[in-house]
Order: sequence, then structure tokens, then C-alpha cells
Amino acid sequence: MIINISEATQRYSQINRDNRNMEWTKEADESIQKVPFFVRKRVRARVEKEAKNAGKKVVSPADVKATQARYLTGMASEIKGYQIDTCFGPSGCRNRAAVSDQLLQKIETLVKEKDLLGFLKKRVAGDLKFHHEFRITLADCPNACSQPQIKDIGIIAACLPQLTDEPCTFCEACVEACRENAITLIADNECPQIDFTRCLYCGACMKVCPTGTISKGAIGYRVQLGGKLGRHPQLAKELPEIYDEDQVLQIVDDCLNFYTQNSKHGERFGQILTSADLEKIAARYK
Ligand code: SF4
Ligand code: SF4
Ligand code: SF4
Repeated sequence: MIINISEATQRYSQINRDNRNMEWTKEADESIQKVPFFVRKRVRARVEKEAKNAGKKVVSPADVKATQARYLTGMASEIKGYQIDTCFGPSGCRNRAAVSDQLLQKIETLVKEKDLLGFLKKRVAGDLKFHHEFRITLADCPNACSQPQIKDIGIIAACLPQLTDEPCTFCEACVEACRENAITLIADNECPQIDFTRCLYCGACMKVCPTGTISKGAIGYRVQLGGKLGRHPQLAKELPEIYDEDQVLQIVDDCLNFYTQNSKHGERFGQILTSADLEKIAARYK
């Protein structure tokens, strides 16, 4: 579920608009599933674009094969040193906990300033591959469709539930909506109890509360660092707070500086980031 944010949400939306009439044969769809997952989205978008430019309305296995060959042969020229992805939230997913389009664009501006392609060319011996690129993703809710857990920096939108003075009718809608069992209704209490150690800040409870007893509190982001796949996969580790947009940008900046100072041979961020480093980053944003 990867959308290249280089030309961010606009480009993704544009591709979708341009290609929305493209159909795929069953065989073509099966064929694209065989493309390595980390480039599948890009190859798929490219296949559709090239098929459309050729005047086709249906993508066939031959289209997939031809584009795949061109794309993978020219891999080196496609590498730009970083990947910034998001989930499908910007396309209108109803689960979004926060609207984050501006944040993505700001992150991309920041990343571009670091010239990660120039950095990798100097540090990596041999040809650059996609797996050398620094990956940042944003998921608009804890469902985490863009896989923040395996990215160098994973950002997850968070919406804190807030209790108000509006009387609760004990309808139980919030209890049913909360997949984390974080909400309890107690007969003698005037309002529900929220267990914030379980809450993932998904925003579901406030969307269903008919009285406004639970409403939208602060909007922010969880941040996970150092995830990766490859020969030694590891899940990203989460910083302890919910951060506002400015803090997220500062954390991204800190992480990129740490990475370019410490990745001597193009090692992935997660390989060089120790628990002590993570604590130091966390301490700056208490
Ligand atoms: S992460 Fe959440 S908001 Fe984004 S596409 Fe998945 S369900 Fe929708
Ligand atoms: S924000 Fe989500 S996880 Fe937290 S209490 Fe509400 S429904 Fe549950
Ligand atoms: S907080 Fe809202 S949704 Fe939950 S029980 Fe009370 S009125 Fe219903």
C-alpha cells in the first residue's frame, strides 16, 4: 500500500484520476502480484500509465511484463535516495484519525534538503538499489496500512478522546466501537472511563458518540523508528509521546541527521539506532 509522496498526494490523486478507467485482466492482476512488494505499487502505476498512453483500457499480462522489464532494468535511474509513502487516507478513507496532507509535504521538503541520494552514492559501495533508500511513511490511523512498523520512520496519526460535560446516555456505542476494550461504563459514574494505556487514539469512539460526551481532543502523531525488513528484519520502536506536527518535523530532522552522521556505508537507520539513541531522541521531546 505504497504511494509515492514525492509528488505527494497530488500525484497519487492524479494517477488515480488518470487511470481510474483502467481495468486489469485476472491474469494481469496475478502477474503484478509476483513483482517484489517493495516496488509493486510503483510498477503497477507505471503499467497503467504506459498502457493508457498506448490507448488501452484493459491491462494485459503482456503490458505488465513489458513495463516490469523496462522498470527493473532502469532501476538505478529510478532511485532518488528516499521513499515517502502514505496509506490511502488521503483518498478519503473513513478511518482517518487526522488529516495530514500538509505534514507529508513538509516532510518531503525537509528530506529533499538532505540530498540523501548524494549521501548514498558516496557511502554505498556498488550500485544503489531500492533497499538502500530511506523510508518514511504516514498512516492516518492505527490500522497502519502503509506499514509504519517496517519503515525507518513510521508516523501514525492519533486523535485523543476527550471527555466533556455533556451527559452520557449509556448507549454503549463507544464501547462497541472501541476495538481495544479501552472504554468502560460504570453505573455510578456520570461518564465512561477510558483506559489510556490501551487506547490507540484511533478516534472511533468520538465518531459514534451521539451526545458529544466523548469528543475529539488533541490531534497528533505517534512516531516509530528503525523498522526494516531484509536479512535481519526488525519492527520499529515507538517513541513514548503523542507529538504535534512541528515536533514530528523536528524528530524527522533529528533522525536524518543521526542517520547521515552514523551510517558509514549506507546501513539502514534501524541497524545503527540503539535503544540509548532512541531514549536520547525521546528525551528531547518530553
Ligand atoms: S491506515 Fe487507516 S486511514 Fe489509512 S488507509 Fe488504512 S484504515 Fe484508512
Ligand atoms: S480513541 Fe480508539 S482506542 Fe481510544 S478509546 Fe476511542 S475507540 Fe478506543
Ligand atoms: S459516551 Fe457517548 S457513546 Fe459512550 S455511552 Fe455515553 S453517550 Fe453513548
